[in-house]
Amino acid sequence: MRQTLAGTIAAKGMTLGRARLLQHSRHRVDYRPLPENEIDAELGRLHRALDAARQELGKLRSKLHGNLAREVNGFIDAHHLLLDDPELLRALEELIKTGRYRSDAALKKQHDKLTAVFDTMDAPYLRGRKEDIDHIIARVMSALHQKTPLEERKLAARVGEILVAETIGPADLAHLVGNGLFGVVSSAGSAYSHSAILARSLGIPMLIDVMDALSEIHDNDLILLDAKHGEAIIHPAAQDMTRYRAWQRASVLEGRRLHLLTNAPTRSRDGIDISLLSNAESRADIALSLSYGADGVGLYRTEFLFLRGKAPPSEEEQFLVYRDLVLGMGGLSVTIRTLDVGADKTDTAGLHLHNEDNPALGVRGVRLSLRYPAIFTTQIRAILRAACYGPVRVLIPMVTQPDELIAVRTLFKLARDELKHENVDLPEKLPLGAMIEVPAAALGVRALLNHADFLAIGTNDLAQYVLAADRGNNALNDIYNPLQPALLRLVAHVISHGRRANKPVSLCGEIGGDTRFTGLLLSLGLTQFSMHPGQLLQIRDRISVLNYMALRRHAPKLLHARTSQEVETLLTHLDPEVYG
Ligand code: PEP
Ligand code: MG
Repeated sequence: MRQTLAGTIAAKGMTLGRARLLQHSRHRVDYRPLPENEIDAELGRLHRALDAARQELGKLRSKLHGNLAREVNGFIDAHHLLLDDPELLRALEELIKTGRYRSDAALKKQHDKLTAVFDTMDAPYLRGRKEDIDHIIARVMSALHQKTPLEERKLAARVGEILVAETIGPADLAHLVGNGLFGVVSSAGSAYSHSAILARSLGIPMLIDVMDALSEIHDNDLILLDAKHGEAIIHPAAQDMTRYRAWQRASVLEGRRLHLLTNAPTRSRDGIDISLLSNAESRADIALSLSYGADGVGLYRTEFLFLRGKAPPSEEEQFLVYRDLVLGMGGLSVTIRTLDVGADKTDTAGLHLHNEDNPALGVRGVRLSLRYPAIFTTQIRAILRAACYGPVRVLIPMVTQPDELIAVRTLFKLARDELKHENVDLPEKLPLGAMIEVPAAALGVRALLNHADFLAIGTNDLAQYVLAADRGNNALNDIYNPLQPALLRLVAHVISHGRRANKPVSLCGEIGGDTRFTGLLLSLGLTQFSMHPGQLLQIRDRISVLNYMALRRHAPKLLHARTSQEVETLLTHLDPEVYG
C-alpha cells in the first residue's frame, strides 16, 4: 500500500530504488568496575579497537577513486584526526586507569561529554558536527565488540538502493555511493552534517528527520525518494512514477545546460558582471570552487580548527592550513574569517569562560577574540604569514561597533611589528572587513565603513537578531523568514552605504546561494554573492536570465512592502522586462 513519510530535505533531487535498512547495532555497555589487575589488558583492548577503526577508515579511503575520493578525503581526515586526538586518548586512558571504566563505558562517557558541548552550540552547522563524534565512537565500539564493519556486511552494495538509517557517516556514505547507492533516508540527522554536505556535492538525494522511517520502511520496499517536495513514498503509485519520469527528463536536460556554464562569466542579461564567491570549508569545497569557476573564497570559517581539542591550535598548525587554502585557490582572493565561537563552545576551544544564559547574545566572535588577545594574536600571526602566498582578506565576525575594528587593527599592527622583528615575510596589504550580522552594525554601517576595507553581510545571524528568532529553532520558521521587510531594509541600507563609500559588499548567508532570493538581492544592488560551491552554477544561471537595471528599479517598491507575504507577491509579479 502506498504510504508517504515526510522529512526535511538535506540534499535535493529525486530517485527510485529498493530500501536497504541499516540498523545501528546497539552495544550493551558494561559498567561493572574494572578490577585493578585488568587495567593493562583493558588499555590494550582499547588501543586494538582504535587501531582497527583507523585501519577501517584507511581501507575505505583506498577504495575510493577520482571524484568520490576528492570529495570525501577531507571528511575522512577529520575522522582520523578525532581518532588520533591526544586529548580524547588521554581522557579515555584516564577513565580506564583511575575511574576503573571498561573501554566501552569510557567511550560512552567521552561520547556523551563531547556531544553535550555540541548540543549547546547556536550555529546549526556546528551542531551538525556532533554526528562526526557519533560515527567515530560507533566505529570504535563496533571494533571493540568485534562486529564486522559496514562494508563487509555488504549493505547497499547492490546498485540502485536507498539507504534507510538513523544517520550515516561521510566515509560510509562515500563507500556506499561508490557501490551504487542512489539516495538516503534518515530518521535523524542534520542538514549541516558532513554527510549532508557530501550528499549535496555528490548529487545524492537525502531526506533527514523522517521520523518513522525505520519502523515503516522494510528491506526491499520500493521507495520513491522525493527530496524535491520532502517526502519518501513507499510503494509509489502510477501517478508518482509519471511525476518521477518527468523530473528525470527535466533534470538530465538541466544538468547538461548547467554544465555548459562551468567556465562562463557571471553576467546579468543586461550585461552587468556579478562576482560569485564560495563559502569553502574543506579541500573538497576548494576543488569544487575552482571547477565551477568561483571568483574566490568569500567566507572561510576557521572554527573547526578550534573545536578539535582542548588546546587552541598553534600558530604553525593554523599557518599550514591557511597557506594550503591560499595556495589551493591558485591566486584567487581568499577571505579568512577569524574565530567565531561563543562561551557555549569554549570547553572545546580551550578557553574557560563561565557559562552564559544567552550564548547567542554573549561573548562570541570578535568579542571573545578581543578578550583573549594571546589566542587572537596567534591566529593573526598565522594569517599574516599565510597572506604572503596569495591574496588574502580578513573578515571579523559579530562586529557591533567601530571600537572593535580599531582594536583589531591595533592587534594586527602589533603582530606585524613583531613578525618584522623576527624577519618574517609580510604581505604588503591585508584588507580587513567586518561581518554585518548584528543590527547595530547594519544601522551604524557608515561609522564602521571608516574602519573597514570591505563588508560581508551575514544574513543567517542578522535575520536571527533582527527577528529575535533562534536560527536553529524549527518552531520559528514562520518568523525566521528572509523576506521580512525589516531584514531587507537593513540589507539594502548596508549595500547602498558600501557602494557610496566605494567598498566591496558581499553577502554570505544561506540566501546568497538560494535562487529564490537572487532577483531580490540584485534589486537591492548586491553584486557579490558568496555561497556553498555546489550552488555556483545554479546562481550563475539564474543571474544570466535577470535584468539587473530593471530589477534595481523595483527596489523602492519591494522595500516599502509591509509584510513578507507582500514581498513574495511583488516578486512573483515582477514585470516581464526583469526577465529580459
Ligand atoms: C551568517 O551569519 O550569515 C554567516 C554567514 O555566518 P555563520 O553562518 O557562520 O554564522
Ligand atoms: Mg554568522
